[in-house]
Amino acid sequence: MKLKSIFGHLAMGAALALTGASAASAETIAVTNFTLIDGRGGAAVPNSSMIITDGRIIWVGPASQARTPPDAVVVDLTGKFVTPGFIDTHIHLGNTHDLVQKEEFFTRENVEKDLSTYAAYGFTSVAIMGTDKDLIFSVRKQQRASRPTMARLYTSGQGIVFHGGYGGVPGINTPVATPREAAAVVDAQAAKGADYIKFWLDDELHSMPKMPPQISQAVIDAAHRNGLKAFAHIFYLEDARRLTDQGIDGFVHSVRDADIDPALLRDMKAKGTVQVAATLSREAAMFAYGRHAPQLDDPFFRQSTSPETLRQLDSPERQKQVSSAPVFPELPKFFERAKANFKKLADAGLPFGAGTDSGPPGRVAGYSGHWEMELMVAAGVTPAQALHAATGGAAKILGAQDIGTLERAKWADFVVLDADPLQNILNTRKISAVYIAGRRVPSVAP
Ligand SMILES: [Zn+2]
Repeated sequence: MKLKSIFGHLAMGAALALTGASAASAETIAVTNFTLIDGRGGAAVPNSSMIITDGRIIWVGPASQARTPPDAVVVDLTGKFVTPGFIDTHIHLGNTHDLVQKEEFFTRENVEKDLSTYAAYGFTSVAIMGTDKDLIFSVRKQQRASRPTMARLYTSGQGIVFHGGYGGVPGINTPVATPREAAAVVDAQAAKGADYIKFWLDDELHSMPKMPPQISQAVIDAAHRNGLKAFAHIFYLEDARRLTDQGIDGFVHSVRDADIDPALLRDMKAKGTVQVAATLSREAAMFAYGRHAPQLDDPFFRQSTSPETLRQLDSPERQKQVSSAPVFPELPKFFERAKANFKKLADAGLPFGAGTDSGPPGRVAGYSGHWEMELMVAAGVTPAQALHAATGGAAKILGAQDIGTLERAKWADFVVLDADPLQNILNTRKISAVYIAGRRVPSVAP
């Protein structure tokens, strides 16, 4: 069978898979002779093979032991490295056009454009943190009933914002003023099928009211009552401490006002609280464009960035505007503290994902995830730890059963790289091909 004819009959393949297709009518691909990094955190395994039927891995192991079905399409990847598709554990989708964020931009077209960009950069799954319109659930339903051609999405629907406080997108998130209202918003997201619950607890450097403890407790309790995890946007150490006491499941940013201490690390560990995302690339992006950022000359960055965005980021007037903001001198300190706190968490053995908070203006889809892994390594973890955070570790945090590792029965979502990312984390950018559910999707040039 020719590759092209197989890919032309995907819908039929998916339907057959659901009704229990015979081996003869199944679509089988054998990917072979690559070095495997399976996403579980172990060493790379040279001379590996993987057999994929109807988008799922049915066998993975040494190439010498592969029993390739005669009708399989063979893809020889000699000299290449294969990792699970990357997972970005903190993004926003569909709301931004160039450097403007507005609820009216949230259309199926924009959502799919962003999901395609993530996929092109090897991010085959993304976790959206609280800024989705209900349309997202129909996009997700369609994805989960088929073999998607763009990044798989996980969503919290509309995250919970305190009345007059920080967070959300106007027109999408409905702020709450009481614990009762907060619990009702959580129940509504759960009823729609949210994968987890997200809320914002921040006062934007003392410029806005902060969500009171009774409301955060109501959100966490309502999430748990619905069988969902609760993840919080935080900034301050004291809030991380209180939320840990209240039973929060994870934080989607680093603590940025103070150094985290052994007591908090101990409590987080005891309660199973995880660092869903450290968002180091977000902190870096907050001040990077106060001058001519090196990324602006990087083709890998430019491919994910609109011409108008590039023009504005490169404009000396805008750079001056960014760098003259009163908060500007503080921003590098927040970044350094986020890095230091991330390293402490990692050293304490707490689970962490790789999340970027990309999507809003100036934090571009796709590229940001590679920058995040680079910054995680700069913060002091190994490339293997950073890669695990973006694959198997992330899947575990999201409770996503069939992605994140390349093992039998999982979706065949994977990235083919020209060089070893365990040797140099920048090699995650040397993308040769991206596959979702065993099917190659368009990808960026390295
Ligand atoms: Zn965010």
